[in-house]
Amino acid sequence: MTKRVIILGGGFAGLHLIRRLERILRKAEADVTVVDRQNYHLFTPLLYQVATGELPPHAVAYPLRDATAPIGYRFVQAEVDRIDLASRAVHTVDADLSYDHLVIAVGSVTNDYGIPGVREHAVSVKWLADGEDLKRRILDTFEDAATIADPTRRREALTFIIVGAGPVGVELASSLRDLMDHTLRRIYPSIDFNRDVTIHLLDGADRVIPQMNPRLSRIAIRRLERQRVNVLLRTLVSEIGEGCVRTKDGAELRGRTIIWSGGVKMNPLVASLDLPKAKDGRLIVDATFRVGGRDDVLALGDAAYFEYQGRPLPQLAQVAVLEAPAAARNVAALVRGEPPKPFVYKRKGDLIALGRTQAGAELARFGGLVLSGLPAWTVWRVNYLMQLLGVRNRGTLLVEWLLSYFAGRLVANTP
Ligand SMILES: Cc1cc2nc3c(=O)[nH]c(=O)nc-3n(C[C@H](O)[C@H](O)[C@H](O)COP(=O)(O)OP(=O)(O)OC[C@H]3O[C@@H](n4cnc5c(N)ncnc54)[C@H](O)[C@@H]3O)c2cc1C
Repeated sequence: MTKRVIILGGGFAGLHLIRRLERILRKAEADVTVVDRQNYHLFTPLLYQVATGELPPHAVAYPLRDATAPIGYRFVQAEVDRIDLASRAVHTVDADLSYDHLVIAVGSVTNDYGIPGVREHAVSVKWLADGEDLKRRILDTFEDAATIADPTRRREALTFIIVGAGPVGVELASSLRDLMDHTLRRIYPSIDFNRDVTIHLLDGADRVIPQMNPRLSRIAIRRLERQRVNVLLRTLVSEIGEGCVRTKDGAELRGRTIIWSGGVKMNPLVASLDLPKAKDGRLIVDATFRVGGRDDVLALGDAAYFEYQGRPLPQLAQVAVLEAPAAARNVAALVRGEPPKPFVYKRKGDLIALGRTQAGAELARFGGLVLSGLPAWTVWRVNYLMQLLGVRNRGTLLVEWLLSYFAGRLVANTP
């Protein structure tokens, strides 16, 4: 009998899973449905470039129907608000979808750690709309500031505070400075970019990108200093108000644009499920991605807590992409009534973009070799160009990167 497989989420985990599943599973064996609230896959590692005008939004959004229809999989654009494990159904506003095997790949959501004011007064960087919104705010701020005569008010308007010096915060800070130095400086002659503009980057940790190799942190901090980014480490935020960030040690920073890149937490859809969870809310999976030992529910990507050699795998696109082929093989095995096989994790390393021709790269497969400067930047660019799916997306990426480099960034504040 043909089995029904539902994949919840067309992010890194879901998309790469179906790409592999298609090669393993015959059409007669299963009807596969992908459900996502968006009809595109968002390539999050390049979202900050949308926010800083290096790329247009469509460069980082790959249509999920392109990934499903040609291989005979069904795509349903819908918000899933409930999963009924007992009756094996996924509930959306429009319909109930029944399954024999469910793959939960719904990712995570922004975590404000309960800090007052984050949601109201800070912009987060998680979805495509966030990137577009942030870009609009940045450009609006410069338009306003260009007409402010009072230097104190102008400086406050042009102070950008980024909370969270993980990869997102660091790449954003660096790219924001590049946007100013290589594009905005030329077109806003009334602004003194050395004196009027400040970028603060705050983190509670004692180094930037604390989740990466310490050598990458050193490369990043040197570069940020050269880019005149004011990095404040061991700084814990207690509250965010309108145009101000208060820290636990009693300091207050004032700035019109506050960006929250503080981390992620569990998707509420997963939080509502009666399945085994880790302390951070992720679904505990075994080495074959099954949740609670069940053959009918698998999870991977940010939603899954996969312990490898005593430590949980981090919530990264890289991890989701590496997990996907193994999870696909196991979905196919379970559909056929065969035993699933354990996943073996092989870390690839880390990349961090640090603006124009600068980056840091740690290549795990070359004995942890660490590169900086132009070689790392080349590795970074080639890697993302290859990872992005779709001829149109790749073409846009290549052309826009070249244009941004040689002709300046996209600074028309279009809706
Ligand atoms: C700005 C940013 C930059 C990042 N940069 C990097 C990087 O450089 N390198 C790296 O390795 N990782 C990076 N990450 C982390 C990476 O994006 C995640 O680890 C990765 O996306 C996880 O993949 P996933 O498939 O589990 O979840 P996602 O890619 O988030 O996909 C989840 C999908 O589920 C859908 N969905 C969620 N809830 C529902 C619902 N209730 N109903 C219907 N659909 C739903 C969403 O629309 C989404 O398409 C970054 C994250 C962000 C936010």
